[in-house]
Amino acid sequence: MPTFTPPLAIEKPTLISGKIIDYLEAHDKRVDDGILTDTVKRMRQVITRDLMQPRDTRIGKESNTLYTGACARKARLTFDGAEREPLRARTLLKFLLGDLVELSVLAMARLAGCHIEDNNIDLTVTGEDGVLVPVHPDGRYVDEQGQSYNIEIKSCDSRTFDTWLEQGGLDDTWGYLGQASVEIQAWREAGVPVEATIFIAVSTGSRQGSIAEFIMPYKEQLVIGWHERRLAARQDAVPAIPFQGQPEMAFMRGKACDADWFVHGEPTPRVNEKGATYGWDVMTGRTVVPLQCSYCDYRAKHCWQEAVMEIDGTKPVWVLPAQPDTAAEDAGPGPSGLKDASVTKNGGMVRVPAEAPAPPDDPPVPGHGETMEQYVERHRVTLRVCERTGQAITHTFNAIPEEIRQECFSEYQKQLQSLNRKK
Ligand code: SF4
Repeated sequence: MPTFTPPLAIEKPTLISGKIIDYLEAHDKRVDDGILTDTVKRMRQVITRDLMQPRDTRIGKESNTLYTGACARKARLTFDGAEREPLRARTLLKFLLGDLVELSVLAMARLAGCHIEDNNIDLTVTGEDGVLVPVHPDGRYVDEQGQSYNIEIKSCDSRTFDTWLEQGGLDDTWGYLGQASVEIQAWREAGVPVEATIFIAVSTGSRQGSIAEFIMPYKEQLVIGWHERRLAARQDAVPAIPFQGQPEMAFMRGKACDADWFVHGEPTPRVNEKGATYGWDVMTGRTVVPLQCSYCDYRAKHCWQEAVMEIDGTKPVWVLPAQPDTAAEDAGPGPSGLKDASVTKNGGMVRVPAEAPAPPDDPPVPGHGETMEQYVERHRVTLRVCERTGQAITHTFNAIPEEIRQECFSEYQKQLQSLNRKK
Protein backbone atom coordinates (compact mmCIF):
# COMPACT_ATOMS: atom_id res chain seq x y z
CA MET A 1 0.00 0.00 0.00
CA PRO A 2 1.73 3.21 -1.08
CA THR A 3 2.11 5.87 1.56
CA PHE A 4 2.61 9.55 1.01
CA THR A 5 5.48 11.16 2.88
CA PRO A 6 5.10 14.92 3.10
CA PRO A 7 8.35 16.80 2.51
CA LEU A 8 10.03 18.29 5.57
CA ALA A 9 10.65 22.00 5.56
CA ILE A 10 14.40 22.29 5.11
CA GLU A 11 15.99 25.59 5.87
CA LYS A 12 18.41 26.49 3.11
CA PRO A 13 21.90 26.57 4.55
CA THR A 14 24.39 29.00 3.14
CA LEU A 15 27.64 27.22 2.26
CA ILE A 16 26.96 24.38 -0.19
CA SER A 17 23.48 22.80 0.02
CA GLY A 18 21.60 26.07 -0.40
CA LYS A 19 23.64 26.91 -3.47
CA ILE A 20 23.00 23.45 -4.94
CA ILE A 21 19.25 23.87 -4.37
CA ASP A 22 19.33 27.32 -6.01
CA TYR A 23 21.34 25.95 -8.94
CA LEU A 24 18.97 23.02 -9.48
CA GLU A 25 15.95 25.29 -9.44
CA ALA A 26 17.51 27.92 -11.69
CA HIS A 27 16.24 28.10 -15.25
CA ASP A 28 19.47 29.02 -17.02
CA LYS A 29 22.10 26.27 -17.21
CA ARG A 30 25.18 25.83 -19.34
CA VAL A 31 27.56 22.98 -20.21
CA ASP A 32 30.77 23.20 -18.20
CA ASP A 33 33.33 21.00 -19.94
CA GLY A 34 35.89 21.17 -17.12
CA ILE A 35 33.49 19.89 -14.42
CA LEU A 36 32.04 17.33 -16.83
CA THR A 37 35.46 15.92 -17.71
CA ASP A 38 36.59 15.74 -14.05
CA THR A 39 33.37 14.06 -12.95
CA VAL A 40 33.37 11.47 -15.73
CA LYS A 41 37.02 10.69 -14.98
CA ARG A 42 36.25 10.13 -11.28
CA MET A 43 33.16 8.07 -12.12
CA ARG A 44 35.30 5.79 -14.27
CA GLN A 45 37.64 5.31 -11.31
CA VAL A 46 34.89 4.45 -8.80
CA ILE A 47 33.08 2.12 -11.21
CA THR A 48 36.36 0.34 -11.89
CA ARG A 49 37.13 0.09 -8.16
CA ASP A 50 33.61 -0.88 -7.02
CA LEU A 51 32.67 -3.28 -9.80
CA MET A 52 35.78 -4.52 -11.57
CA GLN A 53 38.41 -5.11 -8.90
CA PRO A 54 38.65 -7.72 -6.13
CA ARG A 55 37.65 -6.31 -2.73
CA ASP A 56 40.28 -8.06 -0.64
CA THR A 57 43.04 -5.65 -1.68
CA ARG A 58 42.87 -3.85 1.67
CA ILE A 59 44.19 -6.78 3.71
CA GLY A 60 47.28 -5.69 5.64
CA LYS A 61 46.66 -2.03 4.81
CA GLU A 62 45.76 0.74 7.20
CA SER A 63 43.44 3.67 6.51
CA ASN A 64 41.58 6.35 8.43
CA THR A 65 38.27 4.50 8.15
CA LEU A 66 39.76 1.24 9.44
CA TYR A 67 39.76 2.78 12.93
CA THR A 68 36.83 5.22 12.84
CA GLY A 69 34.25 2.59 13.87
CA ALA A 70 33.81 1.95 17.58
CA CYS A 71 35.31 -1.57 17.46
CA ALA A 72 39.07 -2.18 17.50
CA ARG A 73 38.36 -5.91 17.11
CA LYS A 74 36.65 -5.26 13.79
CA ALA A 75 39.60 -3.14 12.64
CA ARG A 76 41.99 -5.98 13.47
CA LEU A 77 39.86 -8.67 11.80
CA THR A 78 39.68 -6.52 8.65
CA PHE A 79 43.42 -5.86 8.69
CA ASP A 80 44.06 -9.62 9.05
CA GLY A 81 41.60 -10.50 6.25
CA ALA A 82 39.55 -12.71 8.60
CA GLU A 83 36.63 -14.66 7.16
CA ARG A 84 33.47 -12.59 7.01
CA GLU A 85 29.98 -12.75 5.56
CA PRO A 86 30.18 -12.71 1.77
CA LEU A 87 29.40 -9.32 0.28
CA ARG A 88 25.90 -9.33 -1.12
CA ALA A 89 24.80 -7.68 -4.34
CA ARG A 90 22.78 -5.16 -2.38
CA THR A 91 25.80 -4.09 -0.33
CA LEU A 92 27.97 -3.67 -3.42
CA LEU A 93 25.25 -1.68 -5.12
CA LYS A 94 24.95 0.47 -2.01
CA PHE A 95 28.71 1.21 -2.13
CA LEU A 96 28.49 2.12 -5.81
CA LEU A 97 25.44 4.37 -5.39
CA GLY A 98 27.05 6.08 -2.38
CA ASP A 99 30.17 6.82 -4.43
CA LEU A 100 28.12 8.12 -7.36
CA VAL A 101 26.04 10.32 -5.04
CA GLU A 102 29.30 11.77 -3.67
CA LEU A 103 30.57 12.63 -7.16
CA SER A 104 27.19 14.04 -8.23
CA VAL A 105 27.03 16.30 -5.17
CA LEU A 106 30.57 17.56 -5.80
CA ALA A 107 29.74 18.24 -9.45
CA MET A 108 26.51 20.08 -8.56
CA ALA A 109 28.31 22.13 -5.90
CA ARG A 110 30.94 23.20 -8.41
CA LEU A 111 28.28 23.97 -11.03
CA ALA A 112 26.56 26.07 -8.37
CA GLY A 113 29.73 28.12 -8.01
CA CYS A 114 31.17 26.61 -4.80
CA HIS A 115 34.94 26.61 -4.59
CA ILE A 116 35.74 22.92 -4.04
CA GLU A 117 39.09 21.19 -4.41
CA ASP A 118 40.94 18.00 -3.64
CA ASN A 119 38.30 15.27 -4.04
CA ASN A 120 39.75 12.05 -2.61
CA ILE A 121 43.22 13.63 -2.26
CA ASP A 122 46.00 11.48 -0.71
CA LEU A 123 46.61 12.78 2.83
CA THR A 124 48.07 11.05 5.87
CA VAL A 125 47.75 11.23 9.61
CA THR A 126 50.73 10.33 11.79
CA GLY A 127 50.15 7.41 14.13
CA GLU A 128 51.67 7.42 17.62
CA ASP A 129 54.30 4.98 16.33
CA GLY A 130 55.25 7.43 13.54
CA VAL A 131 53.53 5.44 10.78
CA LEU A 132 51.71 7.58 8.19
CA VAL A 133 48.16 6.28 7.83
CA PRO A 134 46.39 7.15 4.54
CA VAL A 135 43.39 9.51 4.71
CA HIS A 136 41.09 10.35 1.77
CA PRO A 137 38.58 13.14 2.43
CA ASP A 138 35.74 13.79 -0.02
CA GLY A 139 37.10 17.29 -0.66
CA ARG A 140 37.79 20.77 0.66
CA TYR A 141 35.51 23.79 0.45
CA VAL A 142 37.06 27.26 0.48
CA ASP A 143 34.76 30.13 1.49
CA GLU A 144 34.92 33.72 0.32
CA GLN A 145 37.29 34.67 3.16
CA GLY A 146 39.68 31.85 2.19
CA GLN A 147 38.70 29.62 5.15
CA SER A 148 38.92 25.89 4.31
CA TYR A 149 36.38 23.28 5.41
CA ASN A 150 36.70 19.53 5.17
CA ILE A 151 33.84 17.96 3.14
CA GLU A 152 32.09 14.65 3.80
CA ILE A 153 29.11 13.52 1.71
CA LYS A 154 26.79 10.91 3.16
CA SER A 155 23.85 9.27 1.44
CA CYS A 156 21.44 7.90 4.00
CA ASP A 157 17.92 6.54 4.40
CA SER A 158 15.12 8.96 5.18
CA ARG A 159 14.84 8.03 8.84
CA THR A 160 18.52 8.83 9.41
CA PHE A 161 18.17 12.01 7.35
CA ASP A 162 15.20 13.15 9.45
CA THR A 163 17.01 12.29 12.69
CA TRP A 164 20.00 14.39 11.67
CA LEU A 165 17.68 17.27 10.77
CA GLU A 166 15.85 16.99 14.09
CA GLN A 167 19.00 16.87 16.20
CA GLY A 168 20.83 19.49 14.10
CA GLY A 169 23.64 17.22 12.96
CA LEU A 170 25.18 13.77 13.03
CA ASP A 171 26.20 11.74 16.06
CA ASP A 172 29.16 9.38 16.20
CA THR A 173 27.25 6.09 16.36
CA TRP A 174 28.72 4.99 13.04
CA GLY A 175 32.07 6.80 13.40
CA TYR A 176 31.29 9.64 10.96
CA LEU A 177 32.38 12.41 13.34
CA GLY A 178 35.59 10.56 14.22
CA GLN A 179 36.33 10.07 10.52
CA ALA A 180 35.82 13.80 9.89
CA SER A 181 38.03 14.90 12.81
CA VAL A 182 40.87 12.62 11.67
CA GLU A 183 40.50 14.12 8.17
CA ILE A 184 40.85 17.59 9.66
CA GLN A 185 43.94 16.40 11.53
CA ALA A 186 45.33 15.17 8.19
CA TRP A 187 44.61 18.53 6.52
CA ARG A 188 46.46 20.25 9.34
CA GLU A 189 49.42 17.89 8.99
CA ALA A 190 49.45 18.82 5.28
CA GLY A 191 49.66 22.50 6.26
CA VAL A 192 46.01 23.43 5.56
CA PRO A 193 44.25 25.05 8.54
CA VAL A 194 40.77 23.49 8.83
CA GLU A 195 38.40 23.88 11.78
CA ALA A 196 35.23 22.06 10.75
CA THR A 197 33.63 19.58 8.39
CA ILE A 198 30.68 20.33 6.12
CA PHE A 199 28.58 17.18 6.01
CA ILE A 200 26.27 17.07 3.01
CA ALA A 201 23.50 14.53 3.62
CA VAL A 202 21.45 13.22 0.70
CA SER A 203 18.38 11.15 1.41
CA THR A 204 17.98 7.99 -0.64
CA GLY A 205 14.77 6.74 1.01
CA SER A 206 11.21 7.97 0.73
CA ARG A 207 12.52 11.54 0.79
CA GLN A 208 14.92 10.70 -2.03
CA GLY A 209 16.50 13.85 -3.40
CA SER A 210 16.36 15.84 -0.15
CA ILE A 211 19.66 17.45 0.70
CA ALA A 212 20.86 19.05 3.93
CA GLU A 213 24.08 20.43 5.32
CA PHE A 214 25.57 20.19 8.80
CA ILE A 215 28.75 21.93 9.91
CA MET A 216 30.42 19.84 12.60
CA PRO A 217 33.50 21.11 14.48
CA TYR A 218 36.81 19.29 14.97
CA LYS A 219 36.85 17.23 18.18
CA GLU A 220 40.23 16.31 19.58
CA GLN A 221 38.72 13.63 21.82
CA LEU A 222 37.56 11.73 18.73
CA VAL A 223 41.09 11.77 17.30
CA ILE A 224 42.48 10.51 20.62
CA GLY A 225 39.90 7.69 20.53
CA TRP A 226 40.99 6.85 16.98
CA HIS A 227 44.64 6.51 18.11
CA GLU A 228 43.58 4.35 21.07
CA ARG A 229 41.62 1.96 18.83
CA ARG A 230 44.52 1.78 16.42
CA LEU A 231 46.86 0.92 19.28
CA ALA A 232 44.46 -1.77 20.56
CA ALA A 233 44.06 -3.27 17.09
CA ARG A 234 47.82 -3.49 16.60
CA GLN A 235 48.54 -5.52 19.75
CA ASP A 236 49.56 -9.17 19.29
CA ALA A 237 46.23 -10.49 20.53
CA VAL A 238 43.00 -9.82 18.66
CA PRO A 239 41.03 -7.37 20.87
CA ALA A 240 38.12 -8.81 22.85
CA ILE A 241 34.49 -7.96 22.01
CA PRO A 242 34.16 -4.43 23.40
CA PHE A 243 30.36 -4.34 23.69
CA GLN A 244 27.91 -6.11 25.95
CA GLY A 245 24.67 -7.69 24.85
CA GLN A 246 21.52 -6.37 26.48
CA PRO A 247 19.04 -8.53 28.38
CA GLU A 248 15.91 -8.85 26.26
CA MET A 249 12.70 -7.55 27.80
CA ALA A 250 9.16 -8.50 26.82
CA PHE A 251 6.12 -6.40 27.57
CA MET A 252 3.35 -8.36 29.29
CA ARG A 253 0.02 -6.61 29.43
CA GLY A 254 -2.07 -6.84 32.61
CA LYS A 255 -2.28 -5.66 36.21
CA ALA A 256 -1.23 -8.86 37.94
CA CYS A 257 2.28 -10.26 37.70
CA ASP A 258 2.58 -14.02 37.02
CA ALA A 259 5.05 -16.05 39.09
CA ASP A 260 6.85 -17.34 35.99
CA TRP A 261 7.75 -13.78 34.96
CA PHE A 262 10.38 -13.82 37.75
CA VAL A 263 12.37 -16.69 36.21
CA HIS A 264 15.08 -14.45 34.73
CA GLY A 265 14.84 -11.46 37.04
CA GLU A 266 12.38 -9.14 38.69
CA PRO A 267 9.78 -7.65 36.30
CA THR A 268 9.36 -3.87 36.19
CA PRO A 269 5.80 -2.53 36.29
CA ARG A 270 4.57 0.03 33.78
CA VAL A 271 2.29 2.60 35.36
CA ASN A 272 -0.06 5.00 33.57
CA GLU A 273 -0.56 8.67 34.44
CA LYS A 274 -3.21 7.73 37.03
CA GLY A 275 -0.74 5.51 38.85
CA ALA A 276 -2.38 2.25 37.75
CA THR A 277 -0.23 -0.66 36.58
CA TYR A 278 -1.14 -1.72 33.05
CA GLY A 279 1.73 -4.08 32.21
CA TRP A 280 5.17 -5.40 33.02
CA ASP A 281 8.61 -5.45 31.41
CA VAL A 282 9.74 -9.02 31.89
CA MET A 283 13.25 -10.42 31.30
CA THR A 284 13.10 -13.28 28.80
CA GLY A 285 16.57 -14.64 29.61
CA ARG A 286 17.68 -14.01 26.05
CA THR A 287 20.37 -11.50 25.10
CA VAL A 288 20.11 -8.94 22.31
CA VAL A 289 23.33 -8.52 20.33
CA PRO A 290 24.64 -4.93 20.52
CA LEU A 291 23.58 -2.57 17.76
CA GLN A 292 27.10 -2.12 16.34
CA CYS A 293 27.48 -5.89 15.95
CA SER A 294 24.08 -6.29 14.29
CA TYR A 295 25.41 -4.75 11.10
CA CYS A 296 28.92 -6.22 11.23
CA ASP A 297 30.16 -8.83 8.76
CA TYR A 298 32.14 -10.61 11.51
CA ARG A 299 29.14 -11.18 13.80
CA ALA A 300 28.27 -14.71 12.68
CA LYS A 301 31.79 -16.03 12.07
CA HIS A 302 33.74 -14.59 14.99
CA CYS A 303 31.76 -12.89 17.72
CA TRP A 304 28.13 -13.99 18.15
CA GLN A 305 27.94 -17.40 16.48
CA GLU A 306 24.83 -18.48 18.43
CA ALA A 307 22.73 -15.45 17.57
CA VAL A 308 19.64 -15.76 15.37
CA MET A 309 17.95 -12.96 13.50
CA GLU A 310 14.49 -11.68 14.28
CA ILE A 311 12.60 -8.65 13.09
CA ASP A 312 11.80 -6.01 15.65
CA GLY A 313 9.30 -3.51 14.31
CA THR A 314 11.05 -2.49 11.13
CA LYS A 315 14.62 -3.54 11.81
CA PRO A 316 16.50 -6.81 12.16
CA VAL A 317 17.92 -7.74 15.57
CA TRP A 318 20.07 -10.71 16.58
CA VAL A 319 19.26 -12.59 19.76
CA LEU A 320 21.15 -15.18 21.79
CA PRO A 321 18.98 -17.97 23.22
CA ALA A 322 18.37 -18.11 26.98
CA GLN A 323 21.03 -20.09 28.80
CA PRO A 324 19.51 -23.13 30.53
CA ASP A 325 19.64 -22.74 34.30
CA THR A 326 18.28 -24.73 37.18
CA ALA A 327 15.92 -22.04 38.36
CA ALA A 328 14.33 -21.83 34.95
CA GLU A 329 13.92 -25.61 34.67
CA ASP A 330 12.33 -25.79 38.13
CA ALA A 331 9.93 -23.02 37.34
CA GLY A 332 8.82 -24.44 33.97
CA PRO A 333 8.63 -22.33 30.84
CA GLY A 334 9.32 -18.70 31.64
CA PRO A 335 8.56 -15.71 29.45
CA SER A 336 11.02 -16.96 26.87
CA GLY A 337 8.93 -20.11 26.63
CA LEU A 338 6.03 -17.90 25.54
CA LYS A 339 8.15 -16.33 22.84
CA ASP A 340 6.39 -18.01 19.95
CA ALA A 341 2.92 -17.59 21.40
CA SER A 342 1.99 -14.22 20.06
CA VAL A 343 -0.80 -13.49 22.51
CA THR A 344 -0.78 -14.31 26.20
CA LYS A 345 -3.83 -14.59 28.38
CA ASN A 346 -3.08 -11.07 29.56
CA GLY A 347 -3.10 -9.50 26.15
CA GLY A 348 0.07 -9.68 24.16
CA MET A 349 3.81 -9.94 24.20
CA VAL A 350 6.01 -7.71 22.16
CA ARG A 351 9.72 -7.04 22.30
CA VAL A 352 10.78 -3.83 24.01
CA PRO A 353 13.61 -2.59 21.85
CA ALA A 354 16.61 -0.78 23.24
CA GLU A 355 16.44 2.83 22.12
CA ALA A 356 18.96 3.05 19.32
CA PRO A 357 19.49 5.23 16.31
CA ALA A 358 18.60 3.73 12.97
CA PRO A 359 21.54 2.41 11.00
CA PRO A 360 22.17 4.20 7.75
CA ASP A 361 20.31 1.90 5.41
CA ASP A 362 18.72 -1.41 6.27
CA PRO A 363 15.17 -2.53 5.56
CA PRO A 364 13.52 -5.45 7.36
CA VAL A 365 14.10 -8.98 6.06
CA PRO A 366 12.43 -12.05 7.56
CA GLY A 367 15.18 -14.13 9.10
CA HIS A 368 15.83 -17.68 10.17
CA GLY A 369 14.92 -16.78 13.76
CA GLU A 370 11.20 -17.05 12.97
CA THR A 371 8.96 -18.38 10.25
CA MET A 372 7.14 -16.06 7.88
CA GLU A 373 3.87 -16.84 9.66
CA GLN A 374 5.40 -15.91 13.04
CA TYR A 375 6.81 -12.76 11.48
CA VAL A 376 3.39 -11.75 10.15
CA GLU A 377 1.62 -12.78 13.34
CA ARG A 378 3.99 -10.69 15.45
CA HIS A 379 2.97 -7.65 13.46
CA ARG A 380 -0.71 -8.52 13.81
CA VAL A 381 -0.13 -8.57 17.56
CA THR A 382 1.13 -4.98 17.44
CA LEU A 383 -2.31 -4.02 16.11
CA ARG A 384 -4.03 -5.84 18.97
CA VAL A 385 -1.94 -4.39 21.76
CA CYS A 386 -1.49 -0.81 20.58
CA GLU A 387 -3.40 2.07 22.11
CA ARG A 388 -7.16 1.78 21.49
CA THR A 389 -7.73 4.73 19.20
CA GLY A 390 -8.33 4.77 15.47
CA GLN A 391 -5.32 7.00 14.98
CA ALA A 392 -3.01 4.69 16.95
CA ILE A 393 -4.25 1.60 15.12
CA THR A 394 -3.77 3.27 11.73
CA HIS A 395 -0.34 4.51 12.74
CA THR A 396 0.64 1.00 13.85
CA PHE A 397 -0.70 -0.46 10.62
CA ASN A 398 1.30 2.01 8.53
CA ALA A 399 4.46 1.08 10.44
CA ILE A 400 4.13 -2.59 9.43
CA PRO A 401 6.68 -3.48 6.74
CA GLU A 402 5.09 -3.01 3.35
CA GLU A 403 5.66 -6.55 2.12
CA ILE A 404 3.40 -8.03 4.83
CA ARG A 405 0.95 -5.18 5.29
CA GLN A 406 -1.63 -6.88 3.09
CA GLU A 407 -1.54 -9.98 5.31
CA CYS A 408 -2.26 -7.77 8.32
CA PHE A 409 -5.08 -5.83 6.67
CA SER A 410 -7.96 -7.95 7.96
CA GLU A 411 -6.59 -7.65 11.51
CA TYR A 412 -6.39 -3.90 10.99
CA GLN A 413 -10.04 -3.78 9.94
CA LYS A 414 -11.02 -6.02 12.85
CA GLN A 415 -9.33 -3.71 15.35
CA LEU A 416 -11.00 -0.63 13.87
CA GLN A 417 -14.39 -2.38 13.97
CA SER A 418 -13.82 -3.35 17.59
CA LEU A 419 -13.59 0.37 18.42
CA ASN A 420 -17.00 0.98 16.84
CA ARG A 421 -18.49 -1.94 18.77
CA LYS A 422 -17.29 -0.47 22.08
CA LYS A 423 -19.06 2.80 21.28
S1 SF4 B 1 30.61 -8.33 15.63
FE1 SF4 B 1 30.80 -6.63 17.09
S2 SF4 B 1 32.54 -7.16 18.39
FE2 SF4 B 1 32.66 -8.44 16.55
S3 SF4 B 1 34.00 -7.35 15.18
FE3 SF4 B 1 31.91 -6.78 14.67
S4 SF4 B 1 31.49 -4.92 15.82
FE4 SF4 B 1 33.30 -5.87 16.72
